[in-house]
Amino acid sequence: MGVHVKVGFIGLGAMGLPMAKRIVGAGHETFTTYHRRREPADALAALGASVLPSPSDVARASDLVITMLPADRELKETVLGERGLLREWSSGQILVDMTTATALTMQEVETAVRAAGGEVLDAPVSGGTPAAAEGTLTIMVGGEAALLERCRPLLETMGRQVIHVGGVGQGKVVKMVNQMMAAGHLLLIGEAFALGVRCGADPGTLYDVVKTSSGYSRMMDLRLPGFLLEGAFTPGFRLDLMKKDVTLALDSGRALNVPLLLTSAVGQLLAAASAGGHGNADFSAAAQFVADLAGVQLNQAALTPARQP
Ligand code: NAD
Repeated sequence: MGVHVKVGFIGLGAMGLPMAKRIVGAGHETFTTYHRRREPADALAALGASVLPSPSDVARASDLVITMLPADRELKETVLGERGLLREWSSGQILVDMTTATALTMQEVETAVRAAGGEVLDAPVSGGTPAAAEGTLTIMVGGEAALLERCRPLLETMGRQVIHVGGVGQGKVVKMVNQMMAAGHLLLIGEAFALGVRCGADPGTLYDVVKTSSGYSRMMDLRLPGFLLEGAFTPGFRLDLMKKDVTLALDSGRALNVPLLLTSAVGQLLAAASAGGHGNADFSAAAQFVADLAGVQLNQAALTPARQP
């Protein structure tokens, strides 16, 4: 693949827009479309990208198309739908899907793209919106190793760690495991910190000490400062997307007879937090939701002596 590639990018959300900006910034001719809101596409156009009416138009214009969509349904619609990519797919074109979706849907998409003469990489990401803006995502890639090497320079405009994890679908599997752990760690922070605060501890002190102790998880750095400790829940990563990811894991566990006892509780809590009106908040709102069950605020500024025992 040449140094500069014609890249289609579909799904300009919290992650997709900063990722697409990096691709434009690296000098690739970039094509996009929009869904419901035009503003993100306009923001990319202001940097030099072309906005086209539909995914099929993006396919016609591009050598390689990246998709960064919410989940399975949107991925299938974008690739297989009436105005989808495959309507205008040419032999040799490459699809790089970076959505957190299921391995099953990924394989279905792969079969259809291959039947149209194309090639596929499955490349979900971890790292959140700051890493998307800085190009420091971790990208877990499923697909043929040789195809990954051809696409590596492009992927490295978005990610610092680009790791080959197996065939198409394995990226989704690794991402699913990561999400189970991330969601579990987050909710445990909510529960453990609620008890600590109820017992008189200061959440900032808990963070400082556990950070260098055995209970530490990186989720503390990612979601205590700027979110839980400030009572600020602007996404970031929407709670409903995390609920979707945990549901994917629970569905897989059910299908494969793997008991997921802890993850079941995490799934129920995320569902309750979503039903409680927090679905579009950052997913850290789920930890505050757990703390709320004990009547505890993890927001340092909101702590008052009345809340202490
Ligand atoms: P988002 O909801 O902010 O963005 C999704 C984008 O897809 C939106 O711009 C939406 O308009 C677009 N879209 C939806 N349906 C479409 C369709 N049919 N055709 C074209 N565009 C469509 O989501 P996000 O936070 O950017 O996440 C995208 C994916 O990355 C998800 O699978 C998510 O689980 C995963 N992810 C998110 C984060 C994070 O921190 N936000 C981190 C890692 C991975």
